[in-house]
Amino acid sequence: MSPPPKGFDFTTLPEYELVRLQRTAADFAGIENPYFLVHQGRAADTTEVDGRKLLNFSSYDYLGLNGDPRIAAAAKDAIERFGTTVAASRVVAGERQLHRDLERELAAIHHVEDAVAFVSGHATNVTTIGHLFGPKDLIVIDALAHNSIVEGARLAGAKRVMVPHGDYDALERTLRLNRARHRRALIAVEGLYSMDGDVPDLRRLISLKYRYDAILLVDEAHSIGVLGESGGGIAQEQGIDPHDVDLWMGTLSKSFASCGGYIAGTGALVDLLKASAPGFVYSVGLSPPLAAAATTALVLLREEPQRVRKLRDNGKYFLDRAQAAGLNTGGSIGASVVPVVVGESPSAVILSNRLFARGINVQPIIFPAVGERQARLRFFLTARHERAQMDAAVDAVAEELAAMRCAPGFADMISDRLGAV
Ligand code: PLP
Repeated sequence: MSPPPKGFDFTTLPEYELVRLQRTAADFAGIENPYFLVHQGRAADTTEVDGRKLLNFSSYDYLGLNGDPRIAAAAKDAIERFGTTVAASRVVAGERQLHRDLERELAAIHHVEDAVAFVSGHATNVTTIGHLFGPKDLIVIDALAHNSIVEGARLAGAKRVMVPHGDYDALERTLRLNRARHRRALIAVEGLYSMDGDVPDLRRLISLKYRYDAILLVDEAHSIGVLGESGGGIAQEQGIDPHDVDLWMGTLSKSFASCGGYIAGTGALVDLLKASAPGFVYSVGLSPPLAAAATTALVLLREEPQRVRKLRDNGKYFLDRAQAAGLNTGGSIGASVVPVVVGESPSAVILSNRLFARGINVQPIIFPAVGERQARLRFFLTARHERAQMDAAVDAVAEELAAMRCAPGFADMISDRLGAV
């Protein structure tokens, strides 16, 4: 018999049920757990898992810049000169020219005055929203906006209202009914929604923001480097004056082949965050190789706009092919993210498993990350994909879905298992 565990037994916490559920759900379905697979080497349009080469549709490396020798050289050079860490908050002894170079590039791509970089994209939203807003404020969030926005609003202690995805009437109603009773108001949306691959109507949001004297945050994690002719993001795509958005938020972990996050906007906003946002003041400065990698990626994006064109061609091609094959791609505009909605969570996991067996890596997104019966496979397209790879993936999805739907008793099996889970 194994000895009783020492210390606090975390398996007794109700929260631990989620761990059990995730493990048993895969066992119930008789499939491999699709999460936490170890990828051997750099994942791009292909990847390697357990010595098998797979077609890969699960990478945020939209512009295909990860592993670019120029980025790797800049990162190595930064390590040579500054080491792997700046070993202090920037406020005290952690400031390096690398940080300033990066922030200048970030401000330039957004066409605003200044930017401030943080060590994580998630922490950027949490600390910025948590710091700028408080209990007397109102925060209105699109229902599909990222967890980091919701966590930031929770930290702020503000009145939080989640409005249905893309429902501008509900947004307007919320502001009309609540704005006057609150000190500040924030409207928080994404520039390209990572679950659905669709975009907001920025012009409409800006007019609401002015009408109700609100602050507008646009999270460009999935749209910077992707939307707009030269990857300038949703403002460039929709012909918007970037100054009409108050907080441009983005991550360095997707188009920019690095890790970290940022806020871009006016000089006053950046000064304020640098002076007092806890996630900046009380956290280490961005690591030198990461800052250098992101800066180089931004320069390469400017010099090689064909990457954006290739990415957009790929997104459009995949969307058209998927729709022609009768797949449900929801509201995706066919940029970098195209979901294939299959319905029940076990169906999405089983489909992902079958594709994996056929040499295609694409992750299932299941309840509660998306609504019940809205489970999906989420395809990330990059500038590295070729048409033959996308053809192969769409054909395989259509074949496997048809086979699953025709399998006798498949629907019953799913509802039994849903009942059991
Ligand atoms: N915002 C959005 C919309 C995201 O999708 C993500 C991560 O996927 C983040 C913020 C957090 O960024 P990071 O993963 O770089 O911390």
